[in-house]
Amino acid sequence: MPIPLPSLSDISTAITLLVIPVAAWGAALWFGLIIWTFKDVRARSRDPFAQILAAFMVGVLTAPGWLIYLMLRPRETLAEAYERALEEEALLQEIEEKAACPGCSRPIQDDWKICPHCHTRLRKDCPDCGRLLELQWNLCPYCGSGPGGGVSMPTVESELPPDRQDAGPSPAVDRPEPSPGDDSAPTPDPSL
Ligand SMILES: [Zn+2]
Ligand SMILES: [Zn+2]
Repeated sequence: MPIPLPSLSDISTAITLLVIPVAAWGAALWFGLIIWTFKDVRARSRDPFAQILAAFMVGVLTAPGWLIYLMLRPRETLAEAYERALEEEALLQEIEEKAACPGCSRPIQDDWKICPHCHTRLRKDCPDCGRLLELQWNLCPYCGSGPGGGVSMPTVESELPPDRQDAGPSPAVDRPEPSPGDDSAPTPDPSL
């Protein structure tokens, strides 16, 4: 008994059944590639033209287009570029903030009095409280001591208006106010 040959319609049905899943899978992959590319390029570039171009290239050229995109895309994402810029800025600031000796330009510590390399005087002691002061300061910010060692802070009384000063216990109160018609104003003593 001879095996009956499959009819033409049977073959076409089988091909159709085989092609449909493959085509659907291919279409899903193609669509996924486009979406992935669009998301990826948006994370790497703000240029809308580049975003559309990348997605369009993958859509038209499919897998080869995707490979070309992978070769041409920006190396780092925008977030990575931002992070790197921040790091660079912090590094730069650190270098700038590092104090240097005015004599030999070598790095110095904040609490050094004299440069150990070139013996340049860097800071001085406060005569009153002993804390380190910059050479150009003539007033200690810690204890208020002036150049002579005494406290040279302005007193509260001198900042008050004159009428308030008279009311206060300052020595100025004891001095009588000279009246307009008073002839007892200080005059040079003829005997001197
Ligand atoms: Zn030095
Ligand atoms: Zn001081």
